Amino acid sequence: MTQVQEAQATTAQKLLHHRVVVVGGGNGGISVAAQLLRKSKGLDVAIIEPSDKHYYQPLWTLVGGGDAKREATVHSEASVIPKGATWIRDAVTTFCPDENALVTAGGTKVSYDYLVVAPGMQLNWGAVKGLPEAIGKDGVCSNYSYDYVDKTWEFISNFKGGTAIFTHPATPIKCGGAPQKIAYLADDAFRKQGVREKSTIIFATANAGIFQVEKYAKTLRKVIDRKGIDARYRTNLVEVRPATREAVLVNLDTNEETIVKYDLLHVTPPQSAPDFIRNSPLANADGWVDVNKNTLQHTKYPNVFSLGDASSLPTSKTGAAVRKQAPALVKNLLALIESKPLSASYDGYTACPLVTGYGKLVMAEFDYDLTPKESFKIDQSKERRTMYWVKKYGLPRLYWSMIMKGRA
Ligand SMILES: Cc1cc2nc3c(=O)[nH]c(=O)nc-3n(C[C@H](O)[C@H](O)[C@H](O)COP(=O)(O)OP(=O)(O)OC[C@H]3O[C@@H](n4cnc5c(N)ncnc54)[C@H](O)[C@@H]3O)c2cc1C
Repeated sequence: MTQVQEAQATTAQKLLHHRVVVVGGGNGGISVAAQLLRKSKGLDVAIIEPSDKHYYQPLWTLVGGGDAKREATVHSEASVIPKGATWIRDAVTTFCPDENALVTAGGTKVSYDYLVVAPGMQLNWGAVKGLPEAIGKDGVCSNYSYDYVDKTWEFISNFKGGTAIFTHPATPIKCGGAPQKIAYLADDAFRKQGVREKSTIIFATANAGIFQVEKYAKTLRKVIDRKGIDARYRTNLVEVRPATREAVLVNLDTNEETIVKYDLLHVTPPQSAPDFIRNSPLANADGWVDVNKNTLQHTKYPNVFSLGDASSLPTSKTGAAVRKQAPALVKNLLALIESKPLSASYDGYTACPLVTGYGKLVMAEFDYDLTPKESFKIDQSKERRTMYWVKKYGLPRLYWSMIMKGRA
């Protein structure tokens, strides 16, 4: 039996074929599909996506900080599927790249000439003991899920003083800056609510420093000092004890365990490539879709490409990075279809709008070498109100009206 036959043995058989199949109708998948259809009218493109909702996740930071509405971050998936694309509402379970095919949870076998893989990241709530039971209740919240992001603001706005802990796990995560942004907003909110003086804010991060690009880290260290935040580096949350409101933190260098009583605990869950990617022939040793870091073409299967959070691209996992990856991928995929050399090269560009308070933002932009690659002719390492507006109003507009349409 072939891999496809094995995967289908227990399910009813349905066979489909499309010229280009895109796995995942999120930021990366829709960007690529929309750009492909703009550049090559009539191309047969199918998108496999199980969810009927599409989320603009970057705004969840401001939702958690009470400065945006959760409902503004969600559109129907149907509204972002590009005209001319076929939407297969199903989840991929198995890849069989030697047979140019995949199998879905619904038992459909889909074969393709070209494959684009963009299923994002998996949130591993269960990797922290006690977290699945604690999340969303009694002060435990997270901006990393549409389901819990409203809880963040509920718990921050009702905070009466005590200890608030914000965590950053020991795994790659989406938007490396998001775990600290919400700590800065909470500090501002507590000041406005008049409870900051009776509060301790701990930022517990598995990282060794506050940010990997020194130009921006310099500013962030000053922000932490100004706000009086207790930043604990190389520190990982390993357990939540909701009954006693205790967080168990471990120092990653010494293994020393500290138990801290919390009144508010904002958790960024450990994250990984989705299991169906990790367990597939497309994955590298760490589980990510193994692609060339410049061309975005798979290292073993030339008709397979990947972008976004699930890819092995060694840059910070953001929508901003996807915006620069998508055009390079599309150009190279179309070149391959026309048997031309792949000439587009992605340089690792990524951005992190580091919210440092209400109306304050450091717009970090950099590439694979951690060299700043800034879009504005100003010193972007400074906290600026204009950049906050860009995040709150400009980028969501750009996303829904340009990026989702394949125009940016
Ligand atoms: C709290 C938070 C703050 C953030 N802040 C920023 C920011 O300020 N700036 C920024 O640029 N980025 C930010 N990001 C990151 C940004 O949202 C992601 O990097 C971006 O969405 C990645 O795009 P993607 O297409 O790889 O994944 P996603 O957009 O997550 O899309 C993945 C899609 O794949 C689908 N899928 C999953 N499993 C399957 C399957 N088995 N079969 C088929 N489809 C599947 C999912 O349903 C989903 O629709 C933030 C993220 C979070 C959570």
